Amino acid sequence: MPYNYDDQNIFAKILRGEIPNETVLETDHTLAFRDIHPQAPVHVLVIPKGAYVCHDHFAAEASEAELVDFMRVTARICAMHGLSPGDGDDGFRVIANAGTHGVQEVPHYHLHILGGRPLGRMLEPA
Ligand code: 5GP
Repeated sequence: MPYNYDDQNIFAKILRGEIPNETVLETDHTLAFRDIHPQAPVHVLVIPKGAYVCHDHFAAEASEAELVDFMRVTARICAMHGLSPGDGDDGFRVIANAGTHGVQEVPHYHLHILGGRPLGRMLEPA
């Protein structure tokens, strides 16, 4: 898959410690931190530490260890913030924007986890 990773993107700088972040959880392969412009009471970004541009890049090329670690971190973030419907909580939304139509601002793969208020319908009408 012909992805060129730009190592000057803002999340690469966060991973290198060049820019501060409000870390929620860190593991060997994954970092979760608060979005600088939260769109909901809970707005956490989960990123792999590896150089992946967007969701399909990560899904296609990450190792099994990276994939599992990333997904487990998302579950822990939901549990930590009381978002899990399985625990009787009110739920959440995950969003992964990709490319131009997805309106991806930062070209390092990230999953938004949003919750803490009703989030409305999934998409605005076209
Ligand atoms: P995207 O549109 O790429 O899916 O989302 C990028 C997200 O990164 C936005 O929600 C934006 O607020 C967040 N963001 C951009 N720069 C920074 C930063 O320097 N620190 C943090 N914590 N979040 C950022």
